[in-house]
Amino acid sequence: MQGPGDPKDGTNDIMEAAHLMAEHLPTRLHPLATLAYNYWWSWTRGGDALFHDLDPERWSRCGHNPVRLVQEVTHSRSAAVASSEAYTARLTAFHDQFEREVGQPQTRSPQDASVTAFLCAEFGVHGSLPFYAGGLGILAGDFLKEASDRGTPMVGIGLFYQQGSFHQRLDTSGWQHEYWLETDSDRLPAVVVTASDGTPLTIRVPVHGRTVSVRVWRVDAGRVPLYLLDSDHPDNTPADRWITARLYVGNRDLRLAQYALLGIGGVRALRAMGIPTGLFHLNEGHAALALVELLREELTKGSTLDDATARIREQTRFTTHTPVAAGNEAFGGDQLRAILPGLAEGTGLTWQELLPLGRTRPGDEGEPFGLTPLALRLSGTANGVSQLHGTVARSMWQGLWPDRAVEDVPIAHVTNGVHGRTWIAPEMAALVYRYVPDWQDAPPPDDPAWDALFEIPDDEIWEVRCQLRTRLGALVREQSVTDRLGRGASVSYSESAARMWDENALTIGFARRIATYKRLALVTRQPERGLRLLTGDRPLQLVIAGRAHPLDDGAKHTVQQVFALNDLPNAAGRVVFLEDHDMELAAQLVQGCDLWVNLPRALQEASGTSGMKSVLSGGLQLSVLDGWWAEAYKPGNGWAIEPDPGLSHEEQDHRDAEQLFSLIENEVLPLFYERDSRGIPVDWVSLIKTSMRSHIPRFSATRMLQDYGYSDVRRR
Ligand SMILES: *Cc1c(COP(=O)(O)O)cnc(C)c1O
Repeated sequence: MQGPGDPKDGTNDIMEAAHLMAEHLPTRLHPLATLAYNYWWSWTRGGDALFHDLDPERWSRCGHNPVRLVQEVTHSRSAAVASSEAYTARLTAFHDQFEREVGQPQTRSPQDASVTAFLCAEFGVHGSLPFYAGGLGILAGDFLKEASDRGTPMVGIGLFYQQGSFHQRLDTSGWQHEYWLETDSDRLPAVVVTASDGTPLTIRVPVHGRTVSVRVWRVDAGRVPLYLLDSDHPDNTPADRWITARLYVGNRDLRLAQYALLGIGGVRALRAMGIPTGLFHLNEGHAALALVELLREELTKGSTLDDATARIREQTRFTTHTPVAAGNEAFGGDQLRAILPGLAEGTGLTWQELLPLGRTRPGDEGEPFGLTPLALRLSGTANGVSQLHGTVARSMWQGLWPDRAVEDVPIAHVTNGVHGRTWIAPEMAALVYRYVPDWQDAPPPDDPAWDALFEIPDDEIWEVRCQLRTRLGALVREQSVTDRLGRGASVSYSESAARMWDENALTIGFARRIATYKRLALVTRQPERGLRLLTGDRPLQLVIAGRAHPLDDGAKHTVQQVFALNDLPNAAGRVVFLEDHDMELAAQLVQGCDLWVNLPRALQEASGTSGMKSVLSGGLQLSVLDGWWAEAYKPGNGWAIEPDPGLSHEEQDHRDAEQLFSLIENEVLPLFYERDSRGIPVDWVSLIKTSMRSHIPRFSATRMLQDYGYSDVRRR
């Protein structure tokens, strides 16, 4: 129960939940309950081990969800752990660190308590919170974690999906099927935010001419709270309860309703919780209806449209993540009126005034209402997510500024970066800490402290690389057997998967959403040559993972085509498709693969981030010069496929596949297999050091937040 002066932002609700859960545990283990309700443990050294050691088998069965673990651990087990002095000492030290790092207030200054609200349709904070589809969500999760580490005042706003994202299963023909699992919200590190009377805070958003009631969940990522809106509320009709059931639901009407909850509901939730917002950072058009809500707030105060627009521009930033036109969603005027009938009236505008705000050419009544044009038009600043994407976005959206030259279109860029402590392999982190002790504080890219990476002895780097490849091998074997059994293969065929994988072979990885523009199919383009490489005397193995959107049959065909490589004579066991790509599998793959491949069609990759994760643990890059790689690559820090966007798609595919195979054959394989007397590929290792030195400092979330102006540039 809350008192009148208490914060309404869910702080007390989290504390109460942790307090209640602590009762499951012996007194000496009580701090575990507090830690379980904040994902900070997941990116802090020693956190995973604390929960693991409480009950190793249950920890893995719980999907590394600490709340479930603490709820389910038996009394005898927890009593045994509580009697270990070593364990309780570790717990106390870790909890003290938590209090020091997370307990600190996070404000701009004593005078300015405002926070940045980061709105996104997906957040990938941890594998146990399945509210992400791919790179956008993972980026959003990394953003919150970095903001927490840097003390940047920020809150996340997203949706709570009762069934999360879909799971993937392939049948024996390699065709993808999907299934959804109910999110067991009582067992997540999430609490329902309550109002001052102790009942769940309810936000109301008009949809279909009805009022949809929405609950607000809070999940903590270090010092940054993430608020997730959930329409599964007893006041709602069954259809309205379904609005937030699934991520990026296929039905267009429901999709629009999701965006209304995220944008309009998001702003209302912040207001209801009394959170003072300085800036709204909107990601993708998904969140753009927040601008209409802000407009409504201003206009109902009596502002003119011009004044209201000017006010809104002061408090908003928009990041576009999609250089493919079809990925920028638009809705017909009729659909908008049907699903959100009160949208215009609520603001005091007519539809004739509102609809043009979402068009490239305001006067063109045939043009649908685009969420990206709306966001670009009303946000104070806008950016793409790599240097090249900035250029592409300026020319894509030039129509919004017909009087300006393309280079003057007001869309800048901030290149994406990844949260190092989440993605680096612990073994490599330990090595990097020894040579760059400041690594956690992320010195700027030009700081000579980073040069110490070159001093790491070759044999130590190589040993870590071999450990990581071996660990990935164990996972590949185990998962391949169960994947095969799951799709109904014979026991002997399934068990044969346990014998594949060569601990010492060059291991190439490709894992991300399977979308057509990512061109995974290029690996199947020259089958004879591919087969020669796979079965040559310098062995190579390929591991692939990724989910296709349930409605994207083209991408599902690609999955099937690649899956068929499993059956090539002699190649069996050298190509593996792992089902149901998620954050946890992604981490193992980026850490264990020697070479990370990306094959986007030129100018269609906004940034790409999995390669940045791979460099952290010493993976080398072979990628089309697009997205981040176009600005990262220099001869000698990886390999590049040089695209020619002027060619037809067929010609591009031919040309790029040719380069892919040639580079592997002529450069990658020889370098990997040329060994010194100790068996170490010294030139390969030297390339790893160059790659780590040039990429880790530049493609970090630390640098990204600095570029956004959210944290200070740190100079030593
Ligand atoms: C990092 C990541 C991605 C993004 O990969 P790209 O290289 O940007 O395509 C997608 N899915 C998961 C699970 C990830 O961790």
